[in-house]
Amino acid sequence: MSKNQNKTGSYSFFNCIEKNFDKAARFISIEKGLLEQIKACNSVYRMHFPVKIGKEIKVIEAYRVQHSHHKLPCKGGIRYSMKVNQDEIMTLAALMTYKCAIVDVPFGGAKGGIKIDPQTISSENIEKITRRYTSELIKKNFIGPGIDVPAPDYGTGEREMSWIFDTFLSLRSGDIDALACVTGKPVSQGGVRGRKEATGLGVFYGIRELCHVKEEMSSVGLDVGLVGKKIIIQGLGNVGYHAASFFHESGAIIIALAEREGAIYNEKGLNVSKVFLHLKNNGSILNFPEAKNIENTEKALELECDILIPAALENVIHKNNANHIKAKIIGEAANGPITPEADEILYKKGVIIVPDIYLNAGGVTVSYFEWLKNLSHVRYGRMEKKFRENVNAEFLKVIETVCKKKISIEEKKMILRGPREIDLVRSGLEDTMINGFHKIRDLKKSLKIENMRTAAFVLSINKIIDSYEKLGIFP
Ligand code: GLU
Repeated sequence: MSKNQNKTGSYSFFNCIEKNFDKAARFISIEKGLLEQIKACNSVYRMHFPVKIGKEIKVIEAYRVQHSHHKLPCKGGIRYSMKVNQDEIMTLAALMTYKCAIVDVPFGGAKGGIKIDPQTISSENIEKITRRYTSELIKKNFIGPGIDVPAPDYGTGEREMSWIFDTFLSLRSGDIDALACVTGKPVSQGGVRGRKEATGLGVFYGIRELCHVKEEMSSVGLDVGLVGKKIIIQGLGNVGYHAASFFHESGAIIIALAEREGAIYNEKGLNVSKVFLHLKNNGSILNFPEAKNIENTEKALELECDILIPAALENVIHKNNANHIKAKIIGEAANGPITPEADEILYKKGVIIVPDIYLNAGGVTVSYFEWLKNLSHVRYGRMEKKFRENVNAEFLKVIETVCKKKISIEEKKMILRGPREIDLVRSGLEDTMINGFHKIRDLKKSLKIENMRTAAFVLSINKIIDSYEKLGIFP
């Protein structure tokens, strides 16, 4: 057993990322010390604070980790889960650093976590815990528009981000940029349209781009395009649900959906919005009328399919089940869903793995747009929408005169339309995901790198090195 392995023989989560980093470092010639600095976690804030729940005082364990300060602010979500621990949050913070660099989002990586099960705690108590956590971050200068900007993650959403913002504002009243202290807020509280579905939509754009490349599809014996591809999605949280909806709308066939309590399967395809309604009404996806139940949810990962999308937690594909996976493509919507041992096994089987540090970067990309919106204090499209519509109307008049033809009202509506915030956000996201994909693929080809994950790490590390070199090291 190597020194990096724990008692159960498996690597710690942080060591998994170090392993991926080291594989990429073989393609980079730079002083070892700089690579060590990039790999290390800069600041770890581990806290315990008391919260009164009912008549009892409960001690809450929580973290905020800033992995890298090569760009500021630091950025990354906050998760609420009983699995939260220091190793996990450090790893997720590191992934944020690499993710931001790949998609040219100028932030260092960070992550936070509170060890609670939000499903068993009342909303009043979650609010108390969230506000107390925020005030702890403020006390230690671990939050702020130019310091560290949290966002939603597993177990948190718009509601928690609102409480974080409100707590920050009440302790920093008069700070004109206070809105930019957290992203993923509701639109009415300074959020940006399109943030909620951004990670799922980014996953969709990334996989769609891969499916359009003939060479890649032939390497796994599939046809070009998404239409008709059989997809399995594990995890119906915010990311999994939206990814599933976009794939479904594009003509792909969602054959199975897996949740904590079990999975459902229909070879002919599941109607995602109907499943979601069923989940809402029954509290479980099981017993959906148009599907078969699979009691052991892990078995759903092993079904015959073209694309498998793990969209929940880390380490779900490991050395014991990797050999049973039949998917030809795995899209990592979750952070770290495949262990390094499983990665090796799948690579040997010829599976294309689209790595998390690229594929789920849509969330932080749109968080960046939200942060910019908050700092500029104006909604996207507000200044140019009408102007564009006027210019388009002039163009149309000229075209009608030159062509001596009247354009129909329906066509006019489409052509004249100026950009709304949602249009700009989505096109910015689409462009980011398409560019990111081709940069990774080009690098993979030019350096003859064995897989997309290593190529993504090389791309990311090179960008971080560039920042450090331009910044210099403070004496
Ligand atoms: N929690 C998300 C992630 O892991 C989003 C982070 C953010 O928007 O800052 O990428």
